[in-house]
Amino acid sequence: MFRLFSEELVNRWMDERTARLFQEEASALPGLVLNEREEADLKLLANGAYTPLRGFMDQDDYLSVLARCRLADGSLWPLPITMAVTPERIRELPRYGPVALHSKNGELLGCLFLSRIYKRNLREEARLVYGTEDRRHPGVARLIREGEYLAGGKVLVLRRPENYWSLPWEPAETRKTFKEKGWKKVVGFQTRNPIHRAHEYLQKTAMEMVDGLFLHPLVGATKEEDLPPEIRLRCYRVLLENYYPRDRVLLGVFPAAMRYAGPREAVFHALVRRNYGCTHMIIGRDHAGTGGYYRPDEAQDFCEKFGDELGITILRFDNAFYCRKCGQMATARTCPHPQDSRLSLSGTRIRELLEKGEELPAELTRPEVAEILRDYYTRGGDHPGGRDVIMESQAGAPPGRILPGQELPRGEGKE
Ligand SMILES: [Zn+2]
Repeated sequence: MFRLFSEELVNRWMDERTARLFQEEASALPGLVLNEREEADLKLLANGAYTPLRGFMDQDDYLSVLARCRLADGSLWPLPITMAVTPERIRELPRYGPVALHSKNGELLGCLFLSRIYKRNLREEARLVYGTEDRRHPGVARLIREGEYLAGGKVLVLRRPENYWSLPWEPAETRKTFKEKGWKKVVGFQTRNPIHRAHEYLQKTAMEMVDGLFLHPLVGATKEEDLPPEIRLRCYRVLLENYYPRDRVLLGVFPAAMRYAGPREAVFHALVRRNYGCTHMIIGRDHAGTGGYYRPDEAQDFCEKFGDELGITILRFDNAFYCRKCGQMATARTCPHPQDSRLSLSGTRIRELLEKGEELPAELTRPEVAEILRDYYTRGGDHPGGRDVIMESQAGAPPGRILPGQELPRGEGKE
């Protein structure tokens, strides 16, 4: 009854001729300004990561997604992809037709073929998508900030130069690379944090069974206390250079914003990685969770509920730790020893240690990663030019060259 995800990517980039005409005409069109999350979604609609979506959801898709995690046509899709409009703007918009989309900085991004403006129920959306109406939940807080009017319609997007540190960010690119490398089974790993040895263990356990790892950090908006993407990318690079076989890992970026929607976002992350060409996806404990709003295994259970329909195999992992008795990384599935022989640190605890200038246990963090983090947390990242350092390392600077971290971007993201 329900159809599977189509193999074909849906791209919404404007061709050159349309782009030229649109740029000439855009100033005469009514306009809308996108927030950071909407701008990220627009790019992902354009590049095919959100296949089969063609635009911001109309009311039928929106209501269907809330009620049953499916588009109106039955395809699996767990999160509303929507564009908010303020009541003041609505008066200036036509009932339907083309609308020029702009970034907050006034750049022309693309065109929305407005089909309808409709009202959403904020509390219902909060409850169904985030499982809570608590305004302290970052997703719920954002929802309330956006307000209750939405503009739906297909989009076409102008292609503009992007600075993603020259890393692949479009599904067509990664699919091509996987094919060129001859990878038949590719496991995706979503992250918004530095990779500690627990994550490394999960990835490498998965890598024993597949042809390649697609390390796919999310680099769109996250919570303020999360590390800025530049710092995280430096961590990934030193880790990959020193501890992973070069020809079995692809590092890309996922320019989406975090929603912290737990179970629904885990399904979303899996579907999107399928569009990027992955066959397998690692889903750990409390995937896309925050602040204890979801049970640790809720996201895993929710993904499994959809079975083969996901079109990507979920690799379900427990939290890993270092066990002194086993003498290695393990999980509760493989280690019989009591809690006091197990060593693990939460992200918060790691940060506390680093801010106090204390050492991270080598069992849990690679020294090269610890050094980047320590530098960031103790020196506040008050050094220009971090991005150049990343570019240099990617151009093949030997490992270690980028370690000293004299050049970090200004410390936004650090409280
Ligand atoms: Zn053990």
